[in-house]
Amino acid sequence: MLRMYVNRQELFGTTDWQATTAAMLGLPSTLRKRGGSEACQKSSLFSFFIACARAHDSQRRWTSLIRTSTTDAMNSDLLIRMSAFLGALTLMALWEVGAPRRSFSMPRGPRWFANITVVILDAVIVRLLFAAGAVGMAMVAAERNWGILNQLSWPIWLNILLTVIALDFVLYLQHVMFHAIPLFWRFHMMHHADLDCDVTTGVRFHPVEVVLSMVIKLGAVVLLGAAPVGVLVFEIVLNATSMFNHSNIWMPVVVDRALRWMIVTPDMHRIHHSVLPQETNSNFGFNLPWWDRLLGTYREDPLRSHTIMSLGLEQYRDPRGLTLRHILALPFVGAPGRYPLARKE
Ligand SMILES: [Zn+2]
Repeated sequence: MLRMYVNRQELFGTTDWQATTAAMLGLPSTLRKRGGSEACQKSSLFSFFIACARAHDSQRRWTSLIRTSTTDAMNSDLLIRMSAFLGALTLMALWEVGAPRRSFSMPRGPRWFANITVVILDAVIVRLLFAAGAVGMAMVAAERNWGILNQLSWPIWLNILLTVIALDFVLYLQHVMFHAIPLFWRFHMMHHADLDCDVTTGVRFHPVEVVLSMVIKLGAVVLLGAAPVGVLVFEIVLNATSMFNHSNIWMPVVVDRALRWMIVTPDMHRIHHSVLPQETNSNFGFNLPWWDRLLGTYREDPLRSHTIMSLGLEQYRDPRGLTLRHILALPFVGAPGRYPLARKE
């Protein structure tokens, strides 16, 4: 699957991505040509497979091969993402048990049940609504020369690097927006209402926020002309770093301070989960810590120490009101409190 995302020009010396994909699948040249030409009018990888299938309707064995290959590709993509997710989850969970930073304020079981259920729900919704995802959109943009990077002939490694950095900046701006606009804050509030902060908090986002994030990301991918491999790397790294910087892990202060120049650390991001509005509205970064430092939203330490500071939101302190059904309903029935940056006093 990874090979499908690699710059087709470098691998195959062609700009016809449909023909390239057909070549990678080992389809005969006639099929490549017929499938490719028909699929030129289509807009996605999967449209191409369908076009190929129609082009050779009489050759059932090729239709079967295409279906199998498509399924394999999607399964490989899912396998890569699932492996990264479970690997990071397991590593951070073990670290939290071996060297915890804080003691929890409520039992882990109910929180983990709610948070893990939410992430499964999010994954299903995203797969249903955006089957080809941001990587698929980047492939379409590349095919049609949409976006800034697709107008330039820069090396693929530079495009990948710029894609990862630019998408991280977009995510920072999006995160600030979710704190600034009261309506958006209502959906982001579910993430902040967690009374403890651990590895599972890093994947606990309301489905509506996840869908909105995806729409913003798709727009950014098209405008930027993002490299498909860069998008894939960004999504996998973001998932892992989000679990890392939300985790309840201890590390020496000197290590934390050194890492903070390159990546958002748990101590840095925990301040963002403080119950105090002025601390909640700081340290918005997820991957790279530079945006907070450059744009004046960086906060070095919490007012109270990391081990005694209160996490969550001041209007939601009772765990009995934060079960799965409560947190899913929170945006629609809950009070936003003093947190939105653009609130009316
Ligand atoms: Zn936030």
